[in-house]
Amino acid sequence: MTSQEVRTQFLNFFKEKNHTIVPSAPMVMRDDPTLMFTNAGMNQFKEFFLGNSVPKSKRVTDTQKCLRVSGKHNDLEEVGKDTYHHTMFEMLGNWSFGDYFKKEAIQWAWELLTEVYKIDKDILYVSVFEGSDDDKLEMDQEAYDLWKAIVPEDRIIMGNKKDNFWEMGDQGPCGPCSEIHVDLRSKEEKAKVPGASLVNQDDPLVVEIWNLVFIQYNRKANGSLEDLPEKHIDTGMGFERLCMALQGVKSNYDTDVFTPLIREVETITGKKYGKNEETDIAIRVVADHIRAVSFAIADGQLPSNTGAGYVIRRILRRAIRYGFTFLDTKQPFIYRLVKVLSESMGKAFPELPKNHQLIENVIKEEENSFLSTLEQGLVLLDSVIASSKSKTIAGEKAFELYDTFGFPIDLTSLILEEKGYQLDVEGFEKALKAQKDRSRAASEVSKDDWTVLQQDSEQEFVGYDTLEAKVKLVKYRKV
Ligand code: ATP
Ligand code: MG
Ligand code: MG
Ligand code: MG
Repeated sequence: MTSQEVRTQFLNFFKEKNHTIVPSAPMVMRDDPTLMFTNAGMNQFKEFFLGNSVPKSKRVTDTQKCLRVSGKHNDLEEVGKDTYHHTMFEMLGNWSFGDYFKKEAIQWAWELLTEVYKIDKDILYVSVFEGSDDDKLEMDQEAYDLWKAIVPEDRIIMGNKKDNFWEMGDQGPCGPCSEIHVDLRSKEEKAKVPGASLVNQDDPLVVEIWNLVFIQYNRKANGSLEDLPEKHIDTGMGFERLCMALQGVKSNYDTDVFTPLIREVETITGKKYGKNEETDIAIRVVADHIRAVSFAIADGQLPSNTGAGYVIRRILRRAIRYGFTFLDTKQPFIYRLVKVLSESMGKAFPELPKNHQLIENVIKEEENSFLSTLEQGLVLLDSVIASSKSKTIAGEKAFELYDTFGFPIDLTSLILEEKGYQLDVEGFEKALKAQKDRSRAASEVSKDDWTVLQQDSEQEFVGYDTLEAKVKLVKYRKV
């Protein structure tokens, strides 16, 4: 089944259950000061749950463009390294605003997965909220009983508050959820370790595909819960993960959502996917990030030095950097993927073909300017190495490169390592801290790239460019 068909079948299934198909909201939020990017299907329906406005239709369904690179949901560091978290992804969803509740939500989810998509029932696990002493909540018996009627009990996992209780914020609508997980391991692997023990354990082949949230409480300002007068359903299914399960592959990147992009990266760079882990990570990063950046630009968000634009610029620069380091791309190339992306997703998202030229131009310009920064940094680094008497390069030197030329510290460590040198990480951190102390009062958001953001300015975005993340990245490559 092609991804196009997977999407259409989802929407049609719920249309037949009297849902109205609505368009995706923009991925870049314009008028919500609490959120930069849409990170879940429910965002655009928030006001209905809060009771501030009344929906035209009590049942809706859609596919929502989401971006998880900031705030509560920041998956950026995983992207490329694992095979099932993306920056930008589609979340398929169905909603009931004070209409149907758990019974229908559970039955329909099961019907869609096992009868329409024909996923083998034996590879599915479901989870149910186990209850919470803090909130004086019992386990979600209602959901448990509904699942028990259709799933063997050894496939029902009890989940804690972190995984199985959804809250919009400190206050407001909330409720237990049931998630559906799929076990894509081979028979032999399954015989060794039971799938039930791997649910929610970050196994790349036992992954969560669908979250069914049962919004039935309101959290009051004093932290206590009260029953909502109207109960709602909010579900979200990862489209790319669903495609993985349906297309018989073991990575989202092996679905037809990503293969055209990966083939194009291979053609442009001459590198082959699937031969070497480091190259593969870089190819996945590029194939993922081009989507996030293109969709953001199509939504009107250009890369810039502040706010949402800054986040987009960083995502693009992360892709450029991976290409530069592991795919040997010294010329702009990411912009060349826009055509393939637009061809493969343009039908579902016409904003891509519509803005095709703009997206290409913006990305190409960003690539040009960042590549020249990288080149300059490399020349400087070479001279630092040439004049160094020791095999350990002083942290202040690396800091200078980082501070003045925006040269990423993980790249510095990597190059040094390749040349048989080491970086004095402590010295770098010291210099960084001294600089941070000096500029604490200044607005960090509009500074040069790769500056560690201050806690109080952009605390939401603790991405790949914090020192901790970078050192982690370098460590990761070593193993
Ligand atoms: P995970 O535990 O895998 O990080 P989650 O519990 O954070 O997922 P939800 O907030 O429940 O995810 O979102 C609903 C669905 O969206 C998930 O079941 C999953 O299929 C999908 N999803 C979540 N995050 C991502 C991501 N970064 N990339 C792709 N799909 C995702
Ligand atoms: Mg998550
Ligand atoms: Mg989860
Ligand atoms: Mg979840």
